Amino acid sequence: MQNTMFALVKAESAPGLTLKRVPIPSIGPTDVLIRIKKTSICGTDVHIYRWDEWAEANIKPPLTIGHEYVGIVEAVGEMVKGVRVGERVSGEGHLVCGICRNCRAGKRHLCKDTHGVGVNRSGAFAEYLALPRENVVPIMDGIDDDLVAIFDPLGNAVHTALKFDMLAEDVLITGAGPIGIMAAAVARFAGARHVVLTDINETRLKLAEKIVPGLVAVNVAKKELTDVVRDLKMTEGFDVGLEMSGAADALHSMMSTMRSGGKLALLGFQKAETTIDFNALILRSLTIQGIYGREMFETWYKMMSMIQSGLDVSGVITHRLDFRDYEKGFAAMMSNESGKVILDWTSAREAL
Ligand SMILES: [Zn+2]
Ligand SMILES: [Zn+2]
Repeated sequence: MQNTMFALVKAESAPGLTLKRVPIPSIGPTDVLIRIKKTSICGTDVHIYRWDEWAEANIKPPLTIGHEYVGIVEAVGEMVKGVRVGERVSGEGHLVCGICRNCRAGKRHLCKDTHGVGVNRSGAFAEYLALPRENVVPIMDGIDDDLVAIFDPLGNAVHTALKFDMLAEDVLITGAGPIGIMAAAVARFAGARHVVLTDINETRLKLAEKIVPGLVAVNVAKKELTDVVRDLKMTEGFDVGLEMSGAADALHSMMSTMRSGGKLALLGFQKAETTIDFNALILRSLTIQGIYGREMFETWYKMMSMIQSGLDVSGVITHRLDFRDYEKGFAAMMSNESGKVILDWTSAREAL
């Protein structure tokens, strides 16, 4: 094996990324070396590309970014059990401490000391990624590589959508980005009655309609949500709300169209100045639950098992590019007209 590889690196404190050769990461006794096949661009990567306020405060260049991927195990440390060389894997992007109260209670997604792959440590937009065995997820059979490459955000969608009971419930999802669309598909798969997805982006609503059977996609710039509730003959409002947009308006309209006792799961980051009507929350006994990451590793299990039993979200992938065309991929993401963008790293080997 040669000792350098291609990687997409935030090289300095400025906008943009650099494709360059860096050393192949070494592995310790409990680590796995993964040869990356395909990666997917996340909103987080776009923040890092743009070098906005969040990125400047959280990212320390030089850093190989990226955390959504599928790959093949190239090597394992001497203490690694249960993962074989040649096996197809992805991985949980949150590295946790393993010793805090939540970790020891089996609630690792609530760890007090979480580190992110491609955010706080070297990431997956490269030919190889070194990852602790604990974070490696062997992939069940019969699942397309491209789909595995988006398991990280699909996991966010699954975690949010399965937080509350979906069977026969009326569900409102605000925000038709890829995670909102996938959450709508999961809600439908999990047995919801009406699934209503709102946005003001017509392209994404159209994409969602193609992916999710029976979806009610609503452009709230053109149509009132209260009219939709009436048209669907829902007399008491939505039972479950999944907030995926981070828009204060969306959260407010969700709160005002929930039935009393309704449950809200919030994934989208809100601005610090966003207010909520606490009296409405109290008087109508609403439950609001914040969602972060994926449950380790129950979300991963459910996600793969649902795909094996017919959940289909592959339509959310709109772009498939060679890794050298990453600029095109980021441009597509920044246009707000794309679904998920896949970067294929398999041609890197032939290049040498
Ligand atoms: Zn992501
Ligand atoms: Zn912990």
